[in-house]
Amino acid sequence: MSKYHPLSEAEAIEIARSFAEVFPTGEELVSREIGDGNLNLVFHITQPATGRSLIVKQALPYVKIIGDSWPLSLDRARIEGEALIKQGELAPGLVPVVYRSDADMALTIMEDLSDHVIMRKGLIEGGVYPDFAEHLAEFLSRTLFFTSDLGMNQQDKKVQLGRFINPDLCKITEDFVLNFPYYDAESNNIEPYLRDAAEAVWRDEELLLEAAKLREKFLTHAQALLHGDLHTGSIFVTPASTKVIDPEFAYYGPMGFDIGAIVANLLLNYAGQEHWSPNEADRRDRRAYLLSTITELWTRFERKFRALWDAHGVDKRFDLPGYQDDYMKRLLQDTIGFAGAKALRRVYGLAQVADIATIPDREARERAQRLALAIARNLIVSNRSASSIEDVVRIAETAA
Ligand code: ADP
Ligand code: MG
Ligand code: MG
Ligand code: MG
Repeated sequence: MSKYHPLSEAEAIEIARSFAEVFPTGEELVSREIGDGNLNLVFHITQPATGRSLIVKQALPYVKIIGDSWPLSLDRARIEGEALIKQGELAPGLVPVVYRSDADMALTIMEDLSDHVIMRKGLIEGGVYPDFAEHLAEFLSRTLFFTSDLGMNQQDKKVQLGRFINPDLCKITEDFVLNFPYYDAESNNIEPYLRDAAEAVWRDEELLLEAAKLREKFLTHAQALLHGDLHTGSIFVTPASTKVIDPEFAYYGPMGFDIGAIVANLLLNYAGQEHWSPNEADRRDRRAYLLSTITELWTRFERKFRALWDAHGVDKRFDLPGYQDDYMKRLLQDTIGFAGAKALRRVYGLAQVADIATIPDREARERAQRLALAIARNLIVSNRSASSIEDVVRIAETAA
């Protein structure tokens, strides 16, 4: 079982059976392929007699949606496994337990989190996650700090960086997030009624310049080991638990890209409340909850990150007065800029989000799209003058 081929359900069951710590008894196992993405198979293996289960995720060598015409390196499965294991060491309890990572077969065999809900779905259904900001602040502060030149041996970091070279997946971001939305690219998925809004972006020189600078930062700024795809579809939640999954885009990049991804997805749901809230009062409450989650996330992140720096900083040169404050300001600005970029591409790029795209009423959907686009634009153009997370709240509340 070491030469790569896509697994059948029977083979996935055979592999699962060897995990005696999960399935100590011999009763029958059943498999269901539950992947909802375009790049991977996800087998949910259960033992009905005992209620025990695990997940077998396998990378495919091509993008599923268009057959095998778009190849994608299987090395991302090794990267996903290594990233999950590292994240689990740095932020215990906030990622699934990995039972085995098999680079040859592009497999990650891990804890079944089916008792959680994917956060995007939970938010659409009006869920409230009181511990989410704390958990994500813990995850982000620890995974980013301890993989950066602030918090780890700087020569080891260069070696680590080499284990997370992820050109195919980075290119997806470089193209679909940081390039195609900014011109009339073929892959854009523009509803005819939004064409004017997309064309306005392509003429907006201030916006195009800032977006190009964000793209440069994503290409060049190997600041820390990122998750790389930290949208609300990559987070499993319950009111009391948070688990980050799916780090196949992991690479050494700018920290603000990960934090910004979460902010963007909370704001996309904010925009989607044009439809998901049944009335004005609920809409106001729901949006206040989403904005307070953003504020809490940043505030807690910043507090934790500074505390880690004070306790575990490895470079005395960075103890100069004012250095940490300036660093945190730049990190907030990156977060805001990337939040804008991550939100903008979801409005008319190839891959959209259910928070907006599934709104059945055309007019409500258009209002949500235009609102998301206005917020995204303002985040991008103002990112380098931002000084507080309150700037994000103000931009969301005043966008129209
Ligand atoms: P992709 O990279 O293809 O997006 P994901 O890792 O996001 O793959 O998994 C796709 C879906 O499979 C998730 O949305 C979730 O429904 C299910 N899934 C993935 N990992 C787990 C897990 N550990 N436990 C339960 N379900 C999972
Ligand atoms: Mg998916
Ligand atoms: Mg996913
Ligand atoms: Mg994925």
